[in-house]
Amino acid sequence: MNMRERVLEALKGNDVDRIPCTSLAGCDGICADGVQEEIDIFWPEAHKDADQMTKLAVESRKVLEIENVRIPFDFLVEPEALGAGIKWGNPDLQPSVREHPFEENPEDLEIPSDFLELGRVPVILEALEKIRNEVGEEMPISSLVLGPFTLLGELVDTSKLMRMMVTQPDLVEELMDEIPGILIDYGNAQYEAGSDVVEVGDPMASTDLISPKMFEDVAKPTLKKISEGLNGPSILHICGNAEPIIGHMGECGYDGVSIEKKVDIHEARSQLKEGVQILGNISSSDTLVNGGPEDVEEEVKVAIEKGVDLVEPGCGIPPIAPIENVKAMVAATKEYGTK
Ligand SMILES: [Zn+2]
Repeated sequence: MNMRERVLEALKGNDVDRIPCTSLAGCDGICADGVQEEIDIFWPEAHKDADQMTKLAVESRKVLEIENVRIPFDFLVEPEALGAGIKWGNPDLQPSVREHPFEENPEDLEIPSDFLELGRVPVILEALEKIRNEVGEEMPISSLVLGPFTLLGELVDTSKLMRMMVTQPDLVEELMDEIPGILIDYGNAQYEAGSDVVEVGDPMASTDLISPKMFEDVAKPTLKKISEGLNGPSILHICGNAEPIIGHMGECGYDGVSIEKKVDIHEARSQLKEGVQILGNISSSDTLVNGGPEDVEEEVKVAIEKGVDLVEPGCGIPPIAPIENVKAMVAATKEYGTK
């Protein structure tokens, strides 16, 4: 079984020779510590250029030994394409939104019909093609579509969106209805360009920010629409303690759910319907960054014993994570995950 077959079969819940160790989903892309200097390609330029993005993504995977390539490195492709002002950051700092385009007048939000041509959307699609050419047919590639709630939050400002959910719930519902079309088109264009797996990452739909009831009423229906429209394998990622909403996440129609360390795998399994795979839940923010290789190994062992389907960092690989730790995650998966 090659890496790509193993990942795709594992995502379908089929038998595999060994559990894969990937970073298909989460909030950090795959950019290894020190690789920017090594290959002389740097953020933020690499966020905007398909050749640089390709090289950085492919090299980072090699260095980390993780079993997939993934782009983009940031979470702002869609907000930028829809008019958000971006602060581009630097080699150590992710871009952030400095200007929410519909903060003053959310009711004016209109989704343009030429979304696939806007901002960096064509750059990402071009990079996916280049990555596929570069890595061949045996390497899985994943890519990202922003979750609808997070996208709306970036467009109108998250705290404003929180208030609107209480004071103008009908408007929020109306706006959420506008969003799925472009995300489905964008995700399907990613598969066509060479991506195997599309992550829908919705960090702002976390229970740290909204109640489980709000998730069920506002985020879930839209997330469901998106999964129904996507033509290939997909994963739903929500950070933080997703335990109170894990059952709902499982009902959104994705092949897998990506969960953080805070979610117990046994608990998740008991609430997920059959056919939904669990990806996770090695601690991105703590163990991968602050622990040592033996701590990572122990966490992988426990996750596998508890029945994780794909070993992954719970929220992506932080660029500052020591390379040794990520390699230890892969090595431990190979050791304990063989069936
Ligand atoms: Zn996350």
